[in-house]
Amino acid sequence: MTDGPDYGFDTLQIHAGARPDPATGARQVPIYQTTAYVFRDADHAAALFNLQEVGYIYSRLTNPTVAALQERMATLEGGAGAVCCSSGHAAQIMALFPLMGPGKNVVASTRLYGGTITQFSQTIKRFGWSATFVDFDDLDAVKAAINDDTRAVFCESIANPGGYITDLDAISAISDEAGIPLIVDNTSATPYLCRPIEHGATLVVHSMTKFLTGNGTVTGGVIVDSGKFDWSANDKFPSLSEPEPAYHGLKFHETFGPLAFTFHGIAIGLRDLGMTLNPQAAHYTLMGIETLSLRMQKHVENAMEVAGWLETHDAVEAVTYAGLPTSPYNHRVEKICPKGAGGLFTVKLKGGYDACVKFVDSLEIFSHVANLGDTRSLVIHSASTTHRQLSPEQQEAAGAGPSVVRISIGIEDPADLIADLNQALNAVR
Ligand SMILES: *Cc1c(COP(=O)(O)O)cnc(C)c1O
Repeated sequence: MTDGPDYGFDTLQIHAGARPDPATGARQVPIYQTTAYVFRDADHAAALFNLQEVGYIYSRLTNPTVAALQERMATLEGGAGAVCCSSGHAAQIMALFPLMGPGKNVVASTRLYGGTITQFSQTIKRFGWSATFVDFDDLDAVKAAINDDTRAVFCESIANPGGYITDLDAISAISDEAGIPLIVDNTSATPYLCRPIEHGATLVVHSMTKFLTGNGTVTGGVIVDSGKFDWSANDKFPSLSEPEPAYHGLKFHETFGPLAFTFHGIAIGLRDLGMTLNPQAAHYTLMGIETLSLRMQKHVENAMEVAGWLETHDAVEAVTYAGLPTSPYNHRVEKICPKGAGGLFTVKLKGGYDACVKFVDSLEIFSHVANLGDTRSLVIHSASTTHRQLSPEQQEAAGAGPSVVRISIGIEDPADLIADLNQALNAVR
């Protein structure tokens, strides 16, 4: 496809990054199942290794199938470049890696995917990094948490397990003022519902495992760089602004401008951390993204109908879906995700922990799995599974207390979903 800045989302989700294969004319993006690429000659090889010419060397770094997906994701998010990696969690580490160093910290929202809270509160300590968690509705607390060693602010657009929408404009105003990048995990929203860069995000990360692939077949992640952050404005990001010893003294920002973060992510991040997406996974994700807008519209439509119905059921104490007028975050839908609040929410049952377990076990169409963003409707009791490693306070703050079941609404017939939920709720009573 030739560059067409005016193409709409539905066109770009199919065409961005994809061209007929130069060797065969294959219309679909081939799976380039190869580890290495033959150099034209020794000069060509040297130019590639010096980053003087862009091309393929070794699939830990770059691969044509993965490159097509990177270009598609950068386009859909409105970014300058993107780096794919092996999972959403890999994307988070890869996003922080060029920014952080021993003694540096990230200021993160309390409302995050459970695995991210564990990764940030425990595992990153081994790198000498730390995280400070704050309520991102308390803007003064966010400001107060940022200190001289803060290198990033991190939140989710629509937060997993659902029902909360971050005021990205208010948060990016704070990170801008502090001269540090805002990283937004846009997994639950996808670029169809929310485009964080338009709200001031520097980097957008995704678990492509979820709605982007959309059918529960792939583990993958991506970091999209807005290309808008000035890494040289202060001395906080030497790996991007100063000579980088890990790449024979190359100054990434000076050399690559708005693509500095992307080149760093490939040339150092993937080279040395090795969290590479494999080409077959990239192919499946490209297939999934072709229908992203259609699926997200249906996820939103179904979630509105099912959440609205659940709210009226007398075994239900509360439903946290930001799309419902009763949600305290409903007013943020128009501003942050005007096409809808996604397909993910939680339901709180009057019967507490035991009722949740019985409810989950009684469902037939809904599968009890540790996943979300599938064409299939899924449920999980977060407190006994994904959020199990968290303290009771962390569980409550993340919206995953013991009486709460997380629901990921699929694209089935909504009447069938409601009938299934109804029989399971009746079984609880
Ligand atoms: C699943 C998920 C992740 C982690 O992604 P993986 O692909 O499982 O590593 C991160 N953030 C959010 C919001 C998620 O839902």
